[in-house]
Amino acid sequence: MSFASLGLIDQITRTLASLQYVSPTAVQSQAIPAVLAGRDVMAAAQTGTGKTAGFALPLLQRLAMEGAQAASNSARSLILVPTRELAEQVHESVKAYGAGLPLRTMVAYGGVSINPQMMRLRKGVDVLVATPGRLLDLQRQNAVRFNQVQTLVLDEADRMLDLGFSRDIDKLLALLPKQRQTLLFSATFSDPIRALAGKLLHDPVSIEATPRNTTVRAIRQWIVPVDKKRKPELFLHLLKRHGWGQVLAFVKTRKGVDQLVELLASKRIDADSIHGDKPQPARLRALARFKAGEVKVLVATDVAARGLDIEELPVVVNVDLPIVAEDYVHRTGRTGRAGASGEAVSLVCADEVQQLAAIEVLTGQTLQRKDEPGFEPEHRVPQTNASGQVVKKPKKPKKPKGEARVVQEDVRFRK
Ligand code: AMP
Repeated sequence: MSFASLGLIDQITRTLASLQYVSPTAVQSQAIPAVLAGRDVMAAAQTGTGKTAGFALPLLQRLAMEGAQAASNSARSLILVPTRELAEQVHESVKAYGAGLPLRTMVAYGGVSINPQMMRLRKGVDVLVATPGRLLDLQRQNAVRFNQVQTLVLDEADRMLDLGFSRDIDKLLALLPKQRQTLLFSATFSDPIRALAGKLLHDPVSIEATPRNTTVRAIRQWIVPVDKKRKPELFLHLLKRHGWGQVLAFVKTRKGVDQLVELLASKRIDADSIHGDKPQPARLRALARFKAGEVKVLVATDVAARGLDIEELPVVVNVDLPIVAEDYVHRTGRTGRAGASGEAVSLVCADEVQQLAAIEVLTGQTLQRKDEPGFEPEHRVPQTNASGQVVKKPKKPKKPKGEARVVQEDVRFRK
């Protein structure tokens, strides 16, 4: 199937050819005609499936072909995303896909000065990619009006709800024109997401590009049981033993991120980090250095789990398991992108057994365990499986001492 056969105009198909996109992915071949036809869409699509082009290409085409120019301080379409990183990334994609089209695009998120964003909005924009909180701030300061909005995209809607944006989203929805097209993308479809979809979407086309809540298949995944305090040491050991080129490592806390980066630096391994305490320019710099291959290990909290598009990243290491099982899917989605194969390794300690069980239930798979010689845990990680069971082994009977043991052995021998 070709992009042209989906109804995309020459200008866009030429751009796609220059990006070396040969044929549409599954989500693209379903979403593009539906969005071009003006339909609402509800799509279950995880990162790495090409979902950004799935909504951005037809959106750009419609904006270029239809409707009035953006009035000053107005936006013609909104793409809401949960994090700054994802905002940057989606905006980069929108710019690339819209090359040569007479459209103004911009990105707005918090944590950076609002003034340049207000200035840019003066001329009006065709596509505004934004995080919900900052978008509301801009609206409150009359920097942006929504009466021209013809399309609303909610990208990674599940993540937006996880991050507590539900009220901001409701406030924004109340300000948007009732007559509009709405596209909702989510990697997972929990009940709250379904409720949101029910409120927002009108007769939507449902798209399910990958089975629900599954991790990308090409990824080889396994866990290494280990005691909590030995995780950093095990990480270093695995890094060396496997000779991994570049690794994205996830750690639970910001402090933990900093500690791991320090440890790596002390071993002269190039590492950088992204987490919520870092100012935005520093986060983007770390990401850019990682993408450019200047940094071998990028250590991140879940802030970074979405939106990072790093081509051919071979390995993701969960130094800590995520608290929310869905984040496992998003984290591992960083590797094995667009059909490439990858590895996702999780270092799991006894405290994390419930998280592990939740991940296995969500993804419908029992993760393979591989003990690492020399790192076998003192605190055993109970066996789990995809039906949510945590199998507690009965305690070993204490070894009898001295003569008693000999007697026992004799008894067994005679049987
Ligand atoms: P996404 O799921 O939108 O984050 O996209 C994942 C990756 O796939 C990005 O690096 C895109 O540039 C790439 N991609 C998206 N669509 C295609 C396509 N049709 N052919 C080749 N690569 C693509």
